[in-house]
Amino acid sequence: MYGAGMDIEELIRVASLARSKACVPLSRFRVGAAVITASGAIFEGCNTECIIPVLGVCAERNAINHAIIHGEQEFLAVAVVSDLSSALLPCGACLQYIQEFAREGGRDILIVSQGASGERIVASVNELFKGGFPADTSYRDVQESFRWTSDS
Ligand SMILES: [Zn+2]
Repeated sequence: MYGAGMDIEELIRVASLARSKACVPLSRFRVGAAVITASGAIFEGCNTECIIPVLGVCAERNAINHAIIHGEQEFLAVAVVSDLSSALLPCGACLQYIQEFAREGGRDILIVSQGASGERIVASVNELFKGGFPADTSYRDVQESFRWTSDS
């Protein structure tokens, strides 16, 4: 955890440090991410893999989960860095995940991606991810649509 303020350069720096911790024995493709919360705290994550490839988790979701463990659920921005020369945006699953926190928090979340070349893409999750669950979708709506609830 780091100090307060929405310092994008610091967020990129923390994401870059997290990338160096990536646990990627299969792909060897390292990704680091960092999120800054409404309280100004920064939490980092790296991508992780195991022998079963589909069980890996992206850096972005690991960073968000890291924040959640520390009691934070309102995010202002997510930074992503990878080994690619060009800037790599979060995958669709991560955009869905991030957008849900944007909906719950009632604010859009900034995504900043920087490639090894220094190329940077800055856009919000709502700009990048169209067609996700509408803003007024409740958990109950989703539960009922999947019929996962035991109560009727
Ligand atoms: Zn992802």
